[in-house]
Amino acid sequence: MELLKQRIRQDGTVKGTDVLKVDSFLNHQMDIDLFEEIGKEFKRRFEGCGVNKILTIEASGIGIACIAARHFHCPVVFAKKSQSKNIAGAVYAARVESFTHGRVYDVIVSRKFLGPGDRVLIIDDFLANGAALEGLTDLVSQSGAQLAGAGIVIEKAFQPGGDRLRAKGIRVESLARVKSMSETGGVEFTD
Ligand code: 5GP
Repeated sequence: MELLKQRIRQDGTVKGTDVLKVDSFLNHQMDIDLFEEIGKEFKRRFEGCGVNKILTIEASGIGIACIAARHFHCPVVFAKKSQSKNIAGAVYAARVESFTHGRVYDVIVSRKFLGPGDRVLIIDDFLANGAALEGLTDLVSQSGAQLAGAGIVIEKAFQPGGDRLRAKGIRVESLARVKSMSETGGVEFTD
């Protein structure tokens, strides 16, 4: 998605070798006109897939998922990060290792909001090592719902998550795929 790539080139900053900061428009301050275009593009790519629910993970995915959902006319469910040890029963739970925070946490979704009969599109801001997306796909399979695919805003294609998930047969659509990046050289995309 050209508009998104231009914005990343213009306003994104690279920290170290593998963290892309896009907090001026994507995951802290949020450019809602850009989100609108992102939502339209996800709709175009997943048109006709029968999506009736969007699943994301708190916090950064929520805003993007909500704007996208206006195009799919469906509810958004966000997986909550939970510290609680006592979570069995009313929820689906999966373990996720956070890329940005370097720790492990559980994510949970109430059984009330996901189940057989749902056709789920997962949406998230970044795909890096794939742990967040794997956790979300795990929740979908526990629920018996069908997975239409995953819509990712920025995939860091030099990290292994995207390849691993596609190898499992999951349809992953990324709007910008970063081939390489550096603090001095900026950001290069795969196409
Ligand atoms: P993964 O689980 O695929 O390793 O990482 C995905 C999650 O980590 C995303 O939900 C995102 O919040 C965060 N993340 C991964 N890489 C980056 C990055 O380069 N920049 C930012 N801002 N967040 C990232």
